[in-house]
Amino acid sequence: MKFVDEARMDVAAGNGGNGCVSFRREKYIPFGGPDGGDGGDGGDVWVVADSGLNTLVDFRVTRTFRGGHGESGRGSQCTGARGADCEVMLPVGTLVYNDENDELLADLTEPGQRVMVAKGGWHGIGNIRFKSSTNRTPRQASEGSAGERRRLRLELKLLADVGLVGLPNAGKSTLLSRASAARPRIADYPFTTLYPQVGVVSVGVARSFTLVDLPGLIEGAAEGAGLGTRFLRHSQRTRVLLQVIDLFPLDGSSPEAAFDTIDAELAAWDETLHQRERWLVLNKCDLATDDDVQEARDALLKAIGWGDRPVYTLSAHSGEGVPALMGDLMTCLESLRAADAEAAENERREFAGQDNSADGEGHD
Ligand code: GDP
Ligand code: MG
Repeated sequence: MKFVDEARMDVAAGNGGNGCVSFRREKYIPFGGPDGGDGGDGGDVWVVADSGLNTLVDFRVTRTFRGGHGESGRGSQCTGARGADCEVMLPVGTLVYNDENDELLADLTEPGQRVMVAKGGWHGIGNIRFKSSTNRTPRQASEGSAGERRRLRLELKLLADVGLVGLPNAGKSTLLSRASAARPRIADYPFTTLYPQVGVVSVGVARSFTLVDLPGLIEGAAEGAGLGTRFLRHSQRTRVLLQVIDLFPLDGSSPEAAFDTIDAELAAWDETLHQRERWLVLNKCDLATDDDVQEARDALLKAIGWGDRPVYTLSAHSGEGVPALMGDLMTCLESLRAADAEAAENERREFAGQDNSADGEGHD
């Protein structure tokens, strides 16, 4: 199952600086000769793989990334400065295509990998270089060439970081649309009628994660293995599960029963999923007074013996409490990712046979 995050961006490398036409003019030095310097090359645009990013949400608005222009040459044989290169950080796993012809320009698989996607223009030549025995006062210089420009299409296959589970009507879909900044395209998914919804939650620049609503896990469970296991396989990649509970069900059923149903189904499906980091989300707190919410919450937590595991009281409908939950999820995922990166790094070192990490020595 694939979720594909897609975005476009424009890149424009810098133009090369023009060559200069100039002659040396100094007292006591007649016929000083040509001294116009070359221009500088235009800056390139590069894409760089960054393991700290995992969605393309920051590229929702198509922006242009530009390399600096090369400076023109000057007299006294001064060469113009080279334009600054521009680096665009993208998540590891991003494929970069030329949008016009679908040519694959970069496949970012390794953190730190750099690929040039637009080459800066060439510098123009100053008149000093046109000097010859037959032309001692050249008045020509060449212009710098234009930098490359193109529109790129970015594609990133996503894995969901956080899964939503809960009974129908608990408010999962509402929470997903309230929290998410973008909806990735769902690709290669064989079930057309019932598919998981995914959203990208953006907590700040370069801080985002994916949230998936897993309706089939529970609602499809009764319908047989096929569908349910598909969702299950997907949910296995999630790091945190949010169990959404309607704190004030209209039909008068108890939130405690709702908790138990899902808890039992998770356990029945897969013990690792049951053991997964799970946070409780008590929804629809806008339906009652603060005191009533507090009372219902305390009663539920006591009844299910939730202990001091994370609990959030919120209203997916009004949005109250949602940013706090998303912020905490982001922080939690960031520390999990950092631990993953460290583990991968240690593995690489061990593999290279130079495991020199001394005990008790921090590397951060
Ligand atoms: P799902 O089946 O878990 O995806 O639940 P939905 O998101 O479809 O929500 C079910 C119903 O509950 C809808 O009518 C929502 O408008 C409503 N709902 C969801 N969240 C809230 C909330 O925080 N407050 C209130 N009052 N209604 C909510
Ligand atoms: Mg739903």
